[in-house]
Amino acid sequence: MFKPAISLTILNNINMTNKIAKKTIFLTLVTGLLLLLLFLPKPLLADAPSTSTEPTVPYDFRSDTFDILHTHIDADFSNFTTKNLIAHVRLDMIRKSAPAPLRIDLLKFTVDSLLLNGNRVMYTYDDSQIIVSSAYLAPVGDTFSVDVFYRGTPTQIPGDWGGFYWNTTYAFNIGVSFTENQHSFARCWIPCFDNFTERCTYSYAIQTDPSRRAVCGGMFVADSLLTPTGRISYWTLNTPIPSYLASVAVSDYAEVKSTLSGSLSPIPVSLFARSTDTTKLKNSFLHLPDALRIFENTFGPFKFPRIGYSVVPFSAGAMEHACNISYMQAAVDGTLSYESLMAHELSHNWFGNLVTCESASEMWLNEGWAKYCEYLFT
Ligand SMILES: [Zn+2]
Repeated sequence: MFKPAISLTILNNINMTNKIAKKTIFLTLVTGLLLLLLFLPKPLLADAPSTSTEPTVPYDFRSDTFDILHTHIDADFSNFTTKNLIAHVRLDMIRKSAPAPLRIDLLKFTVDSLLLNGNRVMYTYDDSQIIVSSAYLAPVGDTFSVDVFYRGTPTQIPGDWGGFYWNTTYAFNIGVSFTENQHSFARCWIPCFDNFTERCTYSYAIQTDPSRRAVCGGMFVADSLLTPTGRISYWTLNTPIPSYLASVAVSDYAEVKSTLSGSLSPIPVSLFARSTDTTKLKNSFLHLPDALRIFENTFGPFKFPRIGYSVVPFSAGAMEHACNISYMQAAVDGTLSYESLMAHELSHNWFGNLVTCESASEMWLNEGWAKYCEYLFT
């Protein structure tokens, strides 16, 4: 129940017998309030349309309202001293229904600016979501682009399994979190819809210092040397994936290349490790062709453009990022002791990457099938 607090309380406490005096006091109070409102400081974002009266989209249903078609990631991972990422991500989108503000996940960065179709617009950001009013958005059915410029240190939650790891030798993401309710965890390094249902294609332009290179989820396009300051590695993936399967791994990587006979066509294989690990890597992956053959014979053709693994100093397993599996260094020991892990991750290309669970509570489907595939392989 609403109680008008100021004017009526004051009036009731004054013993007035003269109606004209009451009216004079009332008018004085009203005039005072109007003057007060007139001189109150204006909100800083006064020209930003309010989002408070707009209908909100329940988190997991954003993809019914917007469809992200493509994500392009420009990111500078040059500074291994400060571990400060400087990045620009462009989301090409289509508006599927109206009206709702656009909510983009991004965890604990400094957002410098946001462009909508190339024009700077107002937004709010609370360290977890960027919100853009629907008043700025394209009509239903139209495509539009969102450019987010941001910087900061990517999040690694203490005790978490996933997140973003950055030490003196490696920088890499692990796309899920076991401590966050929102289990997919791309938002720790890129603006995205951090759910399991939104799928889009990806391209990457990742800057490093010249001694390192970036390996991303997709096909290698080119390296561009920025003498003497750095290197930009370009990658692209035309197979749509959810954001938690997008990936980057940066180190002084060497590449072990080969080609396998897929049931549809030859499949390029590229395994990345530091040069001290490449021989052990080859020996530990001797039976990768057998794993591919068994899974193709059982489930159908491999549908991604490349089989890729990147060795990282991850202590507790591996992560099935599309075309760029993050694979723990301890499992690359030159023996076949861990090849069930190699097969497990490869099998996610059918269960998890090609067909993805709808929510975190269904993750057991991804993992149950992958566990079954370990036994198929062995
Ligand atoms: Zn798994």
